[in-house]
Amino acid sequence: MLEKRNFYINGKWVEPKNSKDIQVINPATEKSCAVISLGGKEDVDDAVSAAKTAFQTWGFTKKEERIKLLEKFYELYKKRWNDTTEAIMMEMGAPKDFASKLQTGTGASHTKSFIKYLKAFDFEKPLGDHAQDQRIIYEPKGVCVLITPWNWPMNQVCLKVIPALAAGCTMILKPSELAPLSSMILAELIDEAGFPKGVFNLVNGDGETTGNALTSHKDVNMISFTGSTRAGALISQNAAKDFKRVSLELGGKGANIIFEDADSEAIERGAARCFRNSGQSCNAPTRMLVEKSIYDDAVNRLKKFANEYKVDIPQKEGDHIGPVISETQYNKIQGLIKKGIDEGANLIAGGPGKPDGLKDGYYVKPTVFADVNNNMEIARTEIFGPVLSVIPFETEEETIEIANDTPYGLTNYIQTEDQEKVKRVARKLRSGMIVANTASLAVDAPFGGFKHSGIGREGGKEGLLEFLEVKSIGGWN
Ligand code: NAD
Repeated sequence: MLEKRNFYINGKWVEPKNSKDIQVINPATEKSCAVISLGGKEDVDDAVSAAKTAFQTWGFTKKEERIKLLEKFYELYKKRWNDTTEAIMMEMGAPKDFASKLQTGTGASHTKSFIKYLKAFDFEKPLGDHAQDQRIIYEPKGVCVLITPWNWPMNQVCLKVIPALAAGCTMILKPSELAPLSSMILAELIDEAGFPKGVFNLVNGDGETTGNALTSHKDVNMISFTGSTRAGALISQNAAKDFKRVSLELGGKGANIIFEDADSEAIERGAARCFRNSGQSCNAPTRMLVEKSIYDDAVNRLKKFANEYKVDIPQKEGDHIGPVISETQYNKIQGLIKKGIDEGANLIAGGPGKPDGLKDGYYVKPTVFADVNNNMEIARTEIFGPVLSVIPFETEEETIEIANDTPYGLTNYIQTEDQEKVKRVARKLRSGMIVANTASLAVDAPFGGFKHSGIGREGGKEGLLEFLEVKSIGGWN
């Protein structure tokens, strides 16, 4: 078992002030794989103080210096690829190939993309030819608190840490207490790359104590959070007291609209996108809206596809899914599957209990409910497991109404070979992202949501701008 009790504060690994240990549970075995500490108020104070001091110099560095350090970090990240992948497999149960290519892979591609945007970014520019003495200056927001979840650990951490470093901010990262191990490798890489002390700090901990101490700290200027809508609302209340800048990536309940002229693989592709990462993605298309004329055929195909969909242990190569993160999530998902049955939805694949042969570990059967009504709880709650709800529709107007009838607004999907229909429907869907047919969004496409799915955007240039304040200066001659 790994001993990972220390925090990274002011350029050193330090012992917690008042040690409170918790076990990190490997969801594939239900056994402890590491021990970490939960940070208290004193640890948080030390980390914020280090970040505040470091900002006095780091906030005024030239971008060339930051580019050099980020490029060094990127080279080191590639060297520790296998360690990071193994940590992710252990902490959140992602299967080997998926953990390597996608989980560790997205951390690398975001880093590379942010370096490209940093190189091209103009931190000072004239307002325009009409106002020769006016300047626009982009400055780092200051001390940032970065709070991340467990479902895409390196992706979410790199979407925050890298642009914050690029902008000239200093920071305290609090990764999920359920999946902190890959983030601790990232802290080692930042140390090895040679970033000045105090620029990056890591304090492990829970939401209630550590997260709360961080988000209510008076010396914090910005909070960037990814996780549940519940925690996002609490964090916003803390931030409101002293107008901290807030960026929130929250939940989703995406619709995947399958029109009758969709391509021949749209149904299976939609289910696979829902089941990917064991359904633990905020942008998963968890409601499949299917045009009546192809509905029966779609239900038959989904039944076959889900029944054959592979669930297996993380160590095995291949494109199967692994367990869900924790006993709590497993029980929540089981409760919602039961709720779907009680509500009268038609269970056509999967259902309660574990898949055959997987007794230990939090494994969930790929599950499909047909004949779902959009008012049922399984159509409204973010389940965060491999559970798909299928809803029939008759007209374009009706399907847009159903898709938009949710508190969330993160990603919606459209399947049709009619490009005019894609454009018409995409404009009417109330979400930050739309994906049509076989496309996927580019690494630097702005990622974020409308409504309860959050505030702000991550990735690419928009993601860098999140960490910058705008200053207007007149009389600059
Ligand atoms: P969570 O929001 O409770 O935890 C995510 C992160 O926020 C963790 O680091 C946690 O310690 C921290 N946190 C929790 N409460 C906090 C608070 N009051 N102040 C500051 N930090 C706080 O998410 P969870 O409990 O791990 O998962 C619950 C549900 O959240 C899931 O079922 C899913 O619906 C949703 N979720 C969404 C995403 C996403 O990517 N949008 C990711 C994870 C979870």
